[in-house]
Amino acid sequence: MNLDRSRFLYERSQRVISGGVNSNVRLSESPHPLFFESATGSSIKDVDGNEYIDYVLGQGPMIFGHSPQFLLKTVANASEKGQLFAGQHELEIQVAELVQRIVPCAELVRFASSGTEVVQAALRVARAFTARDLIVKFEGHYHGWTDGVFFNTVAEPETSGPAGEPYSVPMSYGMPKTEAANVIALPWNDIHALEKVFSDNGEKIAAVITEPVMCNTNCVLPKDGYLNALQRICEANGTLLIFDEVITGFRLAPGGAQEYFGVTPDLATYAKAMAGGYPLSMLAGRRDVMAMIGRGEVMHGGTANGNVMSMAAGKAALERITDPRIKTNEKLRKSGKLLIDGLKRLNEKYELGMLVQGPGEVFAVSFTGGKEVVDYRTHSKYADMSRYTRFVAEMMKRGIRLTSRGVWFVSEAHSEEDIEATLSAAKEALLLNPELLGLKTIDLSKPANKTTRLF
Ligand code: PLP
Repeated sequence: MNLDRSRFLYERSQRVISGGVNSNVRLSESPHPLFFESATGSSIKDVDGNEYIDYVLGQGPMIFGHSPQFLLKTVANASEKGQLFAGQHELEIQVAELVQRIVPCAELVRFASSGTEVVQAALRVARAFTARDLIVKFEGHYHGWTDGVFFNTVAEPETSGPAGEPYSVPMSYGMPKTEAANVIALPWNDIHALEKVFSDNGEKIAAVITEPVMCNTNCVLPKDGYLNALQRICEANGTLLIFDEVITGFRLAPGGAQEYFGVTPDLATYAKAMAGGYPLSMLAGRRDVMAMIGRGEVMHGGTANGNVMSMAAGKAALERITDPRIKTNEKLRKSGKLLIDGLKRLNEKYELGMLVQGPGEVFAVSFTGGKEVVDYRTHSKYADMSRYTRFVAEMMKRGIRLTSRGVWFVSEAHSEEDIEATLSAAKEALLLNPELLGLKTIDLSKPANKTTRLF
């Protein structure tokens, strides 16, 4: 496929932008970071004219698809009257009132622009409220890139200590060494590991922060009762439970993962889907905790916080998500399920050793040789990421854009035709590339049999 213009722009970009990209997540795009020209609905077009059915969706925010007219118009109209007042306006209250109705933990909220910022605010207010410093976070979870929490997201298991008691491994040079002392990293989905840490340090732990579904590593669902157990242990120890709903928020259900699983945390962070692609994030939580910010005891600021464009987008997005005639979340779930079922059928028929898991509105694909992935260590052990990278490249040649880390996002705009095209591209990509995948050629005209092992 022709990517000449993208390559040319990437080289030009590298001369003026560090690494040629503005988020390090984009550095891993293969064969190199791409440049795009336009995106509408489920489709995105690069500068070389290649069109893709997009499952990256801006890394999750575009739940209505790209360029949804209702959002574009609302934002344009609202910003005609002003953009940034460095003062309050009614849209902020309207969005907060909507949120309060749909998000179980949202007694009080604060708005900002990125997920990273509101996670920082959550950790600070939790420390202030409990007068404790320690934070528990889990291996494989990502909560943004700040010094206080960017630990053990993609750490090498060999150098991360024992499986049940990992070291706190910083994920970037430049993070002060002292930060590690405030972070306890644990395996996820392992209640015994948590109980042990609490029995040793319970009275020192300010907060446990978790993605309610481990979307950033293989989209692992919590084991039955795990989130309830987290809540119970936190409550018993005077520790705050923080759900990082930056991916799950407004995607899994209007009330996010806390509605989906029926577990209400003390605090929760939101971004991505909240404004369908506009930069809006939110910290929501218990009134007594959040009030510390409002009383000025805990600093939270931001020049762009509550800007007119983001709030207008947030209001329109939340009104659509809660509109019973539209049923955004149901549409996402249905499309996700069709994709998951189709990929699983393919996997079963041709014994691909592929693992497809996740709630549906978001899910992950990996090549694990049929092994189960329940946490970060099992993912590291079994998921063949180089094979997945080759799969992504083959899908790209067939007009399907996937994230490099295995997570698939679906939108309202993905049609059944998109899904059919995606599944047939997946079949071709997997079965017609023996040289790429290191397999023998499969004769697709013959039925698969149990001895046809591809991985
Ligand atoms: N939390 C989670 C669960 C995320 O997935 C991300 C980003 O992918 C963040 C926090 C950080 O959000 P942002 O990129 O908006 O700063």
